[in-house]
Amino acid sequence: MKKKPQILFASFEAAPFMKTGGLGDVAGSLPKALCSAGANVRLILPKFGTIPEKYRSKMKHIAEFTVPLSWRNQYCGIDYLRTNGVTCYFIDNEFYFKRDKAYGYGDDDERCAFFSKAVLECLPHLPNFDPKIIHCNDWHTALIPVFLNAWYRENDYYRNLRTIFTIHNLKFQGACPKFVSSDILGLSEDKAERLGLIRGDSVNFLKGALCNSDLLTTVSPTYAEEICTDFYGENMSDIFLSRKNVLFGILNGIDTDKYNPETDPAIISNYNVTDISPKYKNKEFLQEKLGLPVNSEIPMIAVISRLTEQKGLDLLLRILDELLFEDIQLVILGIGDKKYENAFRAAEYSHNNRMRALLYFDENFSHLVYSAADIVLVPSLFEPCGLSQMIAMRYGSLPVVRETGGLRDSVSPYNVYTGEGTGFSFSNYNAHELLFTIKNALRIYWDDHESWEKLMQQAMSRDFSWSASAKEYMSLYSKLL
Ligand code: ADP
Repeated sequence: MKKKPQILFASFEAAPFMKTGGLGDVAGSLPKALCSAGANVRLILPKFGTIPEKYRSKMKHIAEFTVPLSWRNQYCGIDYLRTNGVTCYFIDNEFYFKRDKAYGYGDDDERCAFFSKAVLECLPHLPNFDPKIIHCNDWHTALIPVFLNAWYRENDYYRNLRTIFTIHNLKFQGACPKFVSSDILGLSEDKAERLGLIRGDSVNFLKGALCNSDLLTTVSPTYAEEICTDFYGENMSDIFLSRKNVLFGILNGIDTDKYNPETDPAIISNYNVTDISPKYKNKEFLQEKLGLPVNSEIPMIAVISRLTEQKGLDLLLRILDELLFEDIQLVILGIGDKKYENAFRAAEYSHNNRMRALLYFDENFSHLVYSAADIVLVPSLFEPCGLSQMIAMRYGSLPVVRETGGLRDSVSPYNVYTGEGTGFSFSNYNAHELLFTIKNALRIYWDDHESWEKLMQQAMSRDFSWSASAKEYMSLYSKLL
């Protein structure tokens, strides 16, 4: 029998252990889909102090050793857990990972360097697992291919190890001062330069991965094209252009078991594509819970997002008063930049009958909002893939998106002549294009509810499961083996 390809999937976050955004969703569901597609994929991530006790208590300690990081020698434990069909390894070091959040600390560069080195160091300690490929994700794991090329290739065990690096968000690059190369990474400035780690006057972890990985992928075909241009390339377009032959765009999927309106325990009233009507009970429940007028006919517009510039919130703020002039309800669920949090809080105060700003992160509650909403806004400035619009469609809430990155690849705009479509879209980063697109959607909601419900059914019928993407990853893996 042909042996299954063994792949180690390295990510700094993965649901249900740690999730701050789309990366957590992807790392929490793609390995399982790849296992179903015929690979032996195991996940590795930090053992964060916040991982729920129900998982921690089942972990088995399998190894411990020290990891050299320049002049430091740091303890590293490896814990093991098999859950939900996937084997997971956890890198344990309380100094680096026993903290309240995943990111946002002054030593994130050192924590990520430690994690990357630990992933390489742990390989010979993993019983019955001998990966031929490490699949790295975002800048936190970018040093894995760099360290591999810097030192480990000389060792027989690592000589033929291959790496694939997936960019989930190019905005975050792990850029830090040059002293980091010798003081933390243990690489002289010359060697760091030769390994492609330097950009301008910084050490740039992500650039290191772009130069040292065998294959590069990003999370939608459109974003793979966009990052080769100056506008979207975040100062890396030259490298993408020079490595275009190994750069692939594969659209993310979502976990269709977790996001399933038919079975979701986090919503009040389950529904499916053949019986949508119970969906409106979720809206009424949410309206009551939030102290908004209870009336299932009022269209509810939701934003479920990190509150950052990327997400196009400046467009929304620009037209907020005009939008709230309409007979709608707007629910914002998000945390992020204070500038946006304050602006939405102020708008809630002025439009108390029509708007709620829920400034926290709550996974379960987000399911209720997806199920209650009629429209979900994702007007991003750029969007590598975006999951929010896919989850929205799964729950029959029609997305209004800007045509960029994965939003363009996953939402088919409504065609008034053929009735085709799964949402609404606009092209330019312009606040009034957003407003007119929302108003157009609202007009159909009010005046042609039959077409609206047909769009809901079309959106709910779209297949956003991982199976198609998993096949594409499998074919890339086979190129490396
Ligand atoms: P990004 O990865 O850029 O943050 P995505 O759309 O790819 O954006 O993924 C965001 C994920 O995080 C989605 O699953 C979305 O529902 C979820 N999410 C964002 N903000 C919140 C929040 N405040 N509470 C719960 N879930 C959230």
